[in-house]
Amino acid sequence: MNSAQVALEDVSKTFDNGGTQALKGLSLAIPTGQFVVTLGPSGAGKSTLLRTLNRLIEPTTGRIWLDGEEVTGADPARLRKIRHRIGMIFQEFNLIDRASVLTNVLSGCLGGTPALWAWGNRFREEDRRTAFIHLKRLGLVDFWEQRADRLSGGQRQRVGIARALMQRPKLLLADEPVASLDPASAKGILDHLRDINQQDGVTVICNLHQPELAREYAGRILGLREGELIFDGPPQELKVNILEQLYEVSIPA
Ligand code: ADP
Repeated sequence: MNSAQVALEDVSKTFDNGGTQALKGLSLAIPTGQFVVTLGPSGAGKSTLLRTLNRLIEPTTGRIWLDGEEVTGADPARLRKIRHRIGMIFQEFNLIDRASVLTNVLSGCLGGTPALWAWGNRFREEDRRTAFIHLKRLGLVDFWEQRADRLSGGQRQRVGIARALMQRPKLLLADEPVASLDPASAKGILDHLRDINQQDGVTVICNLHQPELAREYAGRILGLREGELIFDGPPQELKVNILEQLYEVSIPA
């Protein structure tokens, strides 16, 4: 249908319990290589949007494509293949706490296989080499043997990024990746995401709730409020009146 890497057509999501309409008829196209930040207050639908892209959440209506292939309606085998091209990074890191940094990174090869299986699995030498390349890039080589729960938040998120890179993703979805971090660590993480976007050409879609970080890192901002797209444009067009609408506040001049 579409030459965009990610395309949505009239995507809505209504959750069963209580009938919350988290997404209201979103249509948009994202070309390969963009750094997109979805910005909006808590409850705006950012996480729901991100998770419908790989159908961790099933949209109620609408259609979604990745690289021209329809994600909605894909059978389980097809969906597994599609998901393999999409790396995910989570606010709470989702690491195996008691496993080493290296094991956590290598578990990315398994495409989100449950922790116990990752634990007992023997990894290929080639994958170990690749893991060390990612660890070096993310400044984690010295920590490869450490247990994940001994690391700082910023280090844990860097492990999360290295794990996602093991899939050689074409698209990275980052769901509030810096919400649990101090400002310096947050910037460090966003610097890495920018580097991966610019050096490797990986498309990034990143949820944030801080406008100043969105302005600094995004090539394109999607402003989401109550499940509706109320802004779609470059950071320099994100004016105060749009922020006021997004956050329902009046910002003094
Ligand atoms: P954001 O990521 O912007 O904070 P979410 O996508 O998490 O927003 O949530 C959007 C809306 O959908 C909110 O009203 C939230 O309460 C609701 N919601 C999210 N997940 C569920 C769920 N599993 N069941 C019911 N309601 C949900």
